[in-house]
Amino acid sequence: MRRLHAPLSEYTRFGLGGPADLLVDAASAVEFIDELRSAAAPHIVLGGGTNLVVSDDGYRGTVLRYTGRAIEHVGQTIRVESGADLEDLVRYAVSNGLAGLESMMRIPGWVSGAVYGNAGAYGQSIHETLARVEIWDGTERRWLSNAECGFTYRASRFKQNKHWIILTAEFTLRPGDAAALAARAEEIRATRDEKFPPSMKCAGSIFKNCLFDHLPEAAQRRVPEKLVRDGKVPSAYFLEQVGAKGEVRGGIQVAEYHANLLYNAGGGTAAQVVELIDELKGRVAREFGFALEPEVQFVGFVDRVSY
Ligand SMILES: Cc1cc2nc3c(=O)[nH]c(=O)nc-3n(C[C@H](O)[C@H](O)[C@H](O)COP(=O)(O)OP(=O)(O)OC[C@H]3O[C@@H](n4cnc5c(N)ncnc54)[C@H](O)[C@@H]3O)c2cc1C
Repeated sequence: MRRLHAPLSEYTRFGLGGPADLLVDAASAVEFIDELRSAAAPHIVLGGGTNLVVSDDGYRGTVLRYTGRAIEHVGQTIRVESGADLEDLVRYAVSNGLAGLESMMRIPGWVSGAVYGNAGAYGQSIHETLARVEIWDGTERRWLSNAECGFTYRASRFKQNKHWIILTAEFTLRPGDAAALAARAEEIRATRDEKFPPSMKCAGSIFKNCLFDHLPEAAQRRVPEKLVRDGKVPSAYFLEQVGAKGEVRGGIQVAEYHANLLYNAGGGTAAQVVELIDELKGRVAREFGFALEPEVQFVGFVDRVSY
């Protein structure tokens, strides 16, 4: 599929962003690599568009998406094409009695985006069960082991190697009871749908949670002990202290119940999102002496780290 002047608001969960000069979808890896090779610079590769803030001016170049979505398994190994919805992968694993992905139920987006950002929730992250990833490195197709992907909290080597394209992922899971796994996944689905209604236009958490050990001592002293889990402090804590909840810029709002969640209540713009992000980041820096790090990726901006 090729689309000229494709409005990226239709391809992102935030529902924001101007047009890309050209959008190209390809469902076979061979076709995708051909498209990538012939794409004029600049170009970017996107997945489900759930972790993005796209500029109101859009993107001057080509946006490519690999949409292959086949899922299969042999024994405890699942192989999935990276254009599959993460939720389809989770449901596939659960229904086949394979454990290790069920807590990631309802994290939106595709397997590609989840591998790129080492997505996770409720104590599970992609890297824990991912055995290897097939990539196109600009020259050849090859497999990277889990260690070669360099996973850390919500990050991987893909962030420093933007030309590496994720094509296939292979997971090694544990045998589990399908009914118990389905019950756990359903419990998480219900909790998440309350927090993030499926129709909500947003990008999930705007800022990454903070590693306690990396905070300035003065900030560490102000964090209630019970908030530190697995060495991390929710960014929402700091944002709440600086009055983020309920802040509004035009059509963009900070949720009243979650200080790290910005959403498009209708008619919002990307400019309003970045204005609010910068305002909140500034307030936390002034009050606590450190910089929150965005979890979302920016596309098409000239004045910030962006594609
Ligand atoms: C309501 C909501 C709740 C969320 N909750 C969570 C959560 O609990 N935990 C969590 O971790 N995240 C969460 N997120 C964020 C988001 O869902 C994840 O980051 C998701 O994994 C992004 O996947 P995507 O396919 O949408 O990626 P995109 O947003 O399309 O892209 C993200 C990055 O991946 C890169 N990329 C995409 N495809 C490829 C490819 N084939 N090869 C190389 N690079 C590629 C892109 O270039 C981009 O840099 C949430 C988002 C929303 C909207």
